[in-house]
Amino acid sequence: MHNANSSSAELKTQSRLEWQNKEPLFMKKAHLPSKTCLVCQRSFDWRKKWEKCWDEVKYCSERCRRNRQKR
Ligand SMILES: [Zn+2]
Repeated sequence: MHNANSSSAELKTQSRLEWQNKEPLFMKKAHLPSKTCLVCQRSFDWRKKWEKCWDEVKYCSERCRRNRQKR
C-alpha cells in the first residue's frame, strides 16, 4: 500500500514537471512572423490588426509610417 501511494505521488510530480517543460515549447510554437521597420530598422512582430494586410506592412507603428511620409 505504501508503495502504491508513493508511486502515484511520483506520477503527479512527473506530469507536473512535464507541463513545466512544455511551456517554452508553447512559446516557440506561438512564434510570429516578423519584419524590419523601414524607418527605425527594428524588427517587429506580427499583430492581429495586420492579419489582413501583413504583406503590405512596412513600418512597426503608425508613428514610423508618418515619419516615412514626412520629410
Ligand atoms: Zn519603426
